[in-house]
Amino acid sequence: MSPTHGISLLVVEDDPSIGDPLVEALVHEGFTVQWVTSGTEALSAPLADLILLDLGLPDLDGREVCRRLRDRSPVPIIVLTARDDELERVLLLESGADDYVLKPFGFRELVARIRAVHRRSVGGGGPSAEPGGATAPPPRDEAGLLVDGRSRRVLLDGRELDLAPKEFDLLAMLASEPGRAIPRAAIIEKVWDENWWGPTKTLDVHIAALRRKLGEPGWITTLRGVGYRLDPPPGCGAPTVIEAS
Ligand code: CA
Repeated sequence: MSPTHGISLLVVEDDPSIGDPLVEALVHEGFTVQWVTSGTEALSAPLADLILLDLGLPDLDGREVCRRLRDRSPVPIIVLTARDDELERVLLLESGADDYVLKPFGFRELVARIRAVHRRSVGGGGPSAEPGGATAPPPRDEAGLLVDGRSRRVLLDGRELDLAPKEFDLLAMLASEPGRAIPRAAIIEKVWDENWWGPTKTLDVHIAALRRKLGEPGWITTLRGVGYRLDPPPGCGAPTVIEAS
């Protein structure tokens, strides 16, 4: 069975000269593909395991579509964009995209990114979780931070935090070694692709989002020129981290 077998994709692309060959190649690769050509259709389409989203759509702004898809579910989103500038990329990731591919893109590169993003999204919670991945509910009564890699849920004092996939991976990595400085390069290598070529500012954007969601900026200490360190605030014990498997 091919590694792509059974992965369902929603392709949102209005240009048939891109969509036609792309969908054909994806189907040939073993993906199950649904193709829509507008933002409105994307927002009403059934959930897939992963969404490929063209930003230049005829009816709605692509970033708005991205945000609304993200509000609806944690399904991973890879954006297809012709614009290559840092601000655009940061805005995209803030809109909830998990990754992006620049047009024109190579098909092999796209498939590699789909596989990488999908791999990171499974192993718990998501819509594509394997039935065998069912897990017991995490312990609830404990104060402090609980990062549950099995269900990909995070509880802070019993309250569940709504984290984007990359934010979860980032927090899980920092929380697994509280009090220890984690170099930026190590974070980028683990949380993003090892061949990540994007702006390292992306990391700072995700850290800022995590601090906001943790509600207390002191949780994550910036070590200038080095990286980041998770420091549980006073009175909040060491985080509990449950590995994914
Ligand atoms: Ca387009």
